[in-house]
Amino acid sequence: MVPAARSLGPEGILRRQALRESAARTYARSLPIVPVRARGLTIEGADGRRYLDCLSGAGTLALGHNHPVVLEAIRTVLDSGAPLHVLDLATPVKDAFTTELFANLPPAFAQNARIQFCGPAGTDAVEAALKLARTATGRTGLLAFSGAYHGMTAGSLAASGGAPDVGVTRLPYPQDFRCPFGVGGPEGAALGARWTENLLDDPKGGVPAPAGMILEPVQGEGGVLPAPDAWLRRMREITAARGIPLIADEVQTGVGRTGAFWGVDHAGVIPDVMVLSKAIGGSLPLAVIVYHRDLDTWRPGAHAGTFRGNQLAMAAGTATLAFVRENRLAERAADLGERMLTALHGLATGHPCVGDVRGRGLMIGLELVDPEAPETDAGRAPAAPALAAAVRQECLARGLIVELGGRHASVVRLLPPLTLTDEQAAAVLDRLADALAAVTHPH
Ligand code: PMP
Repeated sequence: MVPAARSLGPEGILRRQALRESAARTYARSLPIVPVRARGLTIEGADGRRYLDCLSGAGTLALGHNHPVVLEAIRTVLDSGAPLHVLDLATPVKDAFTTELFANLPPAFAQNARIQFCGPAGTDAVEAALKLARTATGRTGLLAFSGAYHGMTAGSLAASGGAPDVGVTRLPYPQDFRCPFGVGGPEGAALGARWTENLLDDPKGGVPAPAGMILEPVQGEGGVLPAPDAWLRRMREITAARGIPLIADEVQTGVGRTGAFWGVDHAGVIPDVMVLSKAIGGSLPLAVIVYHRDLDTWRPGAHAGTFRGNQLAMAAGTATLAFVRENRLAERAADLGERMLTALHGLATGHPCVGDVRGRGLMIGLELVDPEAPETDAGRAPAAPALAAAVRQECLARGLIVELGGRHASVVRLLPPLTLTDEQAAAVLDRLADALAAVTHPH
């Protein structure tokens, strides 16, 4: 077929994608959209339809799509004639990024911090963090949590709940709704901490000497599970007392998302390593680890990589970090997130299939359950992944993009930009309510 005769419309593009791209493609399956324009919360498809985007590039777009300060920052670099590819050389653009980032870190952490620019994805930074901790401690084991998500490369995958690894000791992550100890609340979290401590101190516990403990302040992919502050502080005490570096994976929780600039800020915890990506690149790929200088014992070249100098991402990231700071968007996320949670709790009372509503800041989840099925061991209705998928589908039909997460893919997730207005939040909630009603009362 000659190119001119090919369908250039969205159907043709989607058909060719299905024919040419990998069976492993993900979002493309549930979101058959061909985005051609975007601004803020809104994406416009090639078919002219508009969507409110509460996926935000998997939680990347703190300022939404194509924010003017981000576009301006990118244009300035392009127009300046600066090199776009510089490996890990020093540049004014990088210097500005590091300065802005350090100014936003917890002060006690920034004081002694070193930064390593990594390959461009979150998973690259997780790999770097694991290597750093293993080099510095001379130990190889790793403490990680049930339901964790740290990325898709081998080390990150092993640290996640998705792949077995002999060096990883899997510990219980606290959660109210499906508490592994059946009690939930602070008591459930305290039992998890006690279990952790006991296992680490048991000479026959079978725990390989840990190089670090890696955790997410709020598990995102794991189903929007905020770690209780007291539990996070316990993890800090337990690791500090045993000389185990604490690695906070802030890839998704960083830059205001949870209602504080960093997820660890809620608990006032200072980790040894912070893993940062997603929002710090202002919608372009960028990933770093920031860590205590005492851990900086690896050798020159110990963690190399060609693409560690993305100047456009650094400029976009600097603009994003500064905008979040100047406009107090973390506080805004805390306030609006709280109000959205209240509204969603109200919505849940009319829908028995909404088993739980939870979140922190603008990281929000609704766990869908089958209220008519027999309860599981923990006395909860079983997860309802098919229902969650149907809600996502109905949302899309109403011009709302949401994602699913959780152990059983039964949690409908909202990750709107931090720039979300009250009116936009109301529109998002309206569409979600309509979608829920359509799924639960189809007629
Ligand atoms: N850590 C966390 C907490 C994440 O949420 C993600 C991505 N969802 C990653 C790591 C991996 O990031 P990336 O997809 O950029 O490799």
